[in-house]
Amino acid sequence: MKYPTVPNYIDGSFVAADLPALDVYNPSDGSVISRVPLSTQHEVDAAVQSARAAFPAWSTTPIKERVQVFYRYKALLEQHIDELAALVTEENGKIPSEARAEVLKSAELTEFACSLPQITPGEVLEVSRGVECRIERFPLGVVAAITPFNFPNMVPNWSLPNAIALGNCFILKPSELVPLSAVRIAELLAEAGLPKGVLQIVHGGKETVEAICDHSEIAAISFVGSTKVAKVVYRRGTANLKRVLALGGAKNHLIVLPDADLEMTASNVVASMSGCAGQRCMAASVMVAVDKTDHIIERMKEYASKMVPGKDLGPVISAQAKARIESYIAEAEAGGAKVLVDGRNAKVPGSECGYFLGPTIIDHVTPDMRIAQEEVFGPVLVIVRSTDVDEALRVENASPYGNAASVFTESGGMARYVMERASAGMVGVNVGVPVPREPFSFGGWNESKFGVGDITGRGSIEFWTQSKKMTTKWNREAGVNWMS
Ligand code: NAD
Repeated sequence: MKYPTVPNYIDGSFVAADLPALDVYNPSDGSVISRVPLSTQHEVDAAVQSARAAFPAWSTTPIKERVQVFYRYKALLEQHIDELAALVTEENGKIPSEARAEVLKSAELTEFACSLPQITPGEVLEVSRGVECRIERFPLGVVAAITPFNFPNMVPNWSLPNAIALGNCFILKPSELVPLSAVRIAELLAEAGLPKGVLQIVHGGKETVEAICDHSEIAAISFVGSTKVAKVVYRRGTANLKRVLALGGAKNHLIVLPDADLEMTASNVVASMSGCAGQRCMAASVMVAVDKTDHIIERMKEYASKMVPGKDLGPVISAQAKARIESYIAEAEAGGAKVLVDGRNAKVPGSECGYFLGPTIIDHVTPDMRIAQEEVFGPVLVIVRSTDVDEALRVENASPYGNAASVFTESGGMARYVMERASAGMVGVNVGVPVPREPFSFGGWNESKFGVGDITGRGSIEFWTQSKKMTTKWNREAGVNWMS
């Protein structure tokens, strides 16, 4: 085993827990690279106690001082980018360029946290003679984040820098499939000067998550993962009177109109469905091809057929994920859909035990097929044909999810028409992966997000803080009125 069993990070120390553990695999070759402990309520409780002890000093440290840690952390992320990206590749399977982009995105998220003193100064107004109302934001206390496998470095950094810079003490529960990046995040934050106890990492799975949802001294939880678990966490966390923001799965539709730019559309759609082996909650999953778009589909076939698994796209996360994705493809084919580009049986010389799939494009899928409705989470794009844009929008609107949607067209009017009517929280025009970048916030609609607010950017400020409304009067002459 390349790495020892991953330690928890509690009270400023890495602690090897004597707990049952799971194997951690490298998806590129199926080898076991580490083990991850399955923490219980006991470890969660120890983390909460340490975070609680750290909270009074950290929450009263001025925000301008708090963010100094994140200036240093951002520099460390950039300095260590090669090593951090290599770790992402090793535990998640992403190709090196994608892993680097992920770490750079973490740096951008941290940059936003560094700007928080500039954009959270509060408000003040003289509301009547000599009487002032002011609003200041205060941290919540001990908060937690539960993260998925697909961005081991970035998704923890969606929540961590903002929540901590805003004065909270933070418990991270990384995905048990990719626990190694979190260890480096803790090491770099310690090197950046984050005081002991402000960050805790508790590894584990379902039982650990349940202990977080049930803990009476955790005030808020951000969750990112599948819709099934997002619902469980949202229900259980809010039933325990916590603030919960739970981001779930996705089924993103790209509506392609006949006037779309051929090269840009074909290349962007293929990049969107195949990037990170399709394991992005913003990946194109359904292309709704409106009217005469055969020339675009032909060019997409060319782009996708040229992609080499192992070089242009990495493996999916596990043998089970690969089998699940292949079964969706087989079922669609059996149901009469036409597989234009078939990524099954991808062979990567030297990595025969890796979980590779090539890009797969399936045409003439009908909206009632399972592959058109459910999240596949692999490098698979289905094409649903429609005769006009309203029919295309009906297909998009019928999805229970609502993370992202895009339209490809050269017509500003049609772009606006689709943007207004798509039932998704993040929409794009001629953009395959319409991720809003900081200071804009990330968050979907419908079954792609439960709870109020967004997870990054300005939207996260409200989530990680509570406002105090203060009214002051210093002039005795003001007399008596209803405010007295
Ligand atoms: P997952 O739901 O299986 O796991 C997410 C987290 O929940 C992990 O930390 C895991 O340990 C925990 N968990 C798993 N099963 C649990 C259970 N039964 N009870 C309590 N906790 C449990 O998700 P995943 O497979 O790691 O990640 C892929 C999913 O995440 C996809 O659905 C993808 O769309 C979604 N995702 C969404 C976004 C978004 O912004 N909406 C971003 C990234 C990933």
